[in-house]
Amino acid sequence: MVIGHLKFAWLVICVGCLFDFCLTPCFTTAMRFDLLIKNGLLIDPAQNLNAPYDVAIKRNRVAAIDRNIPPESAARVIDAAGQIVTPGLVDLHTHVYYGVTFWGIQADPVAARSGVTTWLDVGSAGAFNLIGLRDYVARPSRARIYALLNISSIGLTAMTYELANLNYCDVDLCCKLIDAHRDFVLGVKARVDANTVGANGLEPLRRARAAADRVGMPLMVHIGVAGPSIGDVLTHLKPGDILTHCFTGHTMRLVDQDGRLLDDARRAWERGVIMDVGHGAGSFSFETAEALMSQGYKPDVISTDIHQMSVHGPLFDMPTCMSKFLSLGMSLEAVVRAATSRPAEVLGLQGEVGTLRPGAYADVALFKLCEGDYVFYDVFMNARKGRQLLCNTLTIVNGQPMARTPDGPTMPWITSTEDQQALVTRGHTPTAMARGCCA
Ligand SMILES: [Zn+2]
Repeated sequence: MVIGHLKFAWLVICVGCLFDFCLTPCFTTAMRFDLLIKNGLLIDPAQNLNAPYDVAIKRNRVAAIDRNIPPESAARVIDAAGQIVTPGLVDLHTHVYYGVTFWGIQADPVAARSGVTTWLDVGSAGAFNLIGLRDYVARPSRARIYALLNISSIGLTAMTYELANLNYCDVDLCCKLIDAHRDFVLGVKARVDANTVGANGLEPLRRARAAADRVGMPLMVHIGVAGPSIGDVLTHLKPGDILTHCFTGHTMRLVDQDGRLLDDARRAWERGVIMDVGHGAGSFSFETAEALMSQGYKPDVISTDIHQMSVHGPLFDMPTCMSKFLSLGMSLEAVVRAATSRPAEVLGLQGEVGTLRPGAYADVALFKLCEGDYVFYDVFMNARKGRQLLCNTLTIVNGQPMARTPDGPTMPWITSTEDQQALVTRGHTPTAMARGCCA
């Protein structure tokens, strides 16, 4: 009887292999994986893994991870020797409403060269144009795209002032759209600074708060130049809400003149407000980052705020942004956590993305960790030296490697700044810096 039970158990395990999950003994059977990534250093903070592991994929899911999975068990093998294998990156702050908004870029070309497989578009769409983001951008994209809905019904169609007209801050309409798209919209977004709210002060934020509470989702608030004071803004944020641009150098920054963390900011940090980088074109200061990190306040989430202006530097992309945090002294594992499992948790997508646990989506990023003398810049063109540069070599979404294609066009209203031209002249673009390491 015991033998019979064992036989049955064996059958169950191996039938399981044919679908999504597998245990080591099945590797010797006729079962085949679709894709096997061998010999890489797997860094998957969700599983506390930082060691050599092979990753096997069947259809669009991770099927197995193990120390040594035989190459003959897979239809296709990728040799990742000398490379770092991570879950596909989860970028918590992006703008990908290409062709419709001031800021939007095309996600897929950047995904293919940066390792970002899950993109949260934060507020490009409001109630009036959410369906377009979903149908015309997210649906045809290879990269996984979710959205936060702007409390402004017009979203980020224009550069600024989306909250300056309270007629556009319609809580009922915002909630109605979110309720109809709960599998796509994961929260509410409001940009609160002098250039967005006009004369409306905190009222747009109050309405965004009301909408987020009513739908039971997180609120992401952007800060920048006051206008509203940082203290007033922070009091509106609850645990699980997201403060983006947490290392801004502008007047809503989280530190005082002497670089000390503000009391309101400390209380927000302690009660579990998620602190998100959102580098962008104007929102990342080395000085602020160093002041906060020296007091023990590290970001929860490293995100890009990639858009038409920031994609040409000094932000450039997620691997460059992550490399800046390596230069600030964060460990590689902590940096990967802040770009994978932590944002996945914030979005309630843990176990699905941001990890390579068997059963998760087969979204994978491969990197070389280049060593050299690198120079990184914040948005004020303040420079810091670093010794490590992450360089993406391959991006896999749903088990399928992405082909590299040129970035989408720069919009007619965007012109390259003198600072951006200087980065090219100095050879301080990621492509130039990675030459010789990561062709
Ligand atoms: Zn943004």
